[in-house]
Amino acid sequence: MVEILGRDPRSLYLADMTSCVKCGDPAQVVMSFDYASRTVWLRDLLVGYDRFAEMPFCEMHANRLVVPVGWALSDDHNLSPPLFLAHGVA
Ligand SMILES: [Zn+2]
Repeated sequence: MVEILGRDPRSLYLADMTSCVKCGDPAQVVMSFDYASRTVWLRDLLVGYDRFAEMPFCEMHANRLVVPVGWALSDDHNLSPPLFLAHGVA
């Protein structure tokens, strides 16, 4: 079977069809977690996400995310350089 990013392509949802699970606004961030290591990860929603293993959030809800006591948050979103920079915006 062909895999995309190590995932079954049937489980992938495309980024441009994705809404925040909290408010329904367009999602820019994806959250995943692992009970065994008590870790939560945030990453940019660039291409798509695995609907069985990840949850999409808008920027506001990603920034408001608080993990349970004893869990670690690995926040890797907004680390990708933007494709375009705004010029002349005051
Ligand atoms: Zn939201």
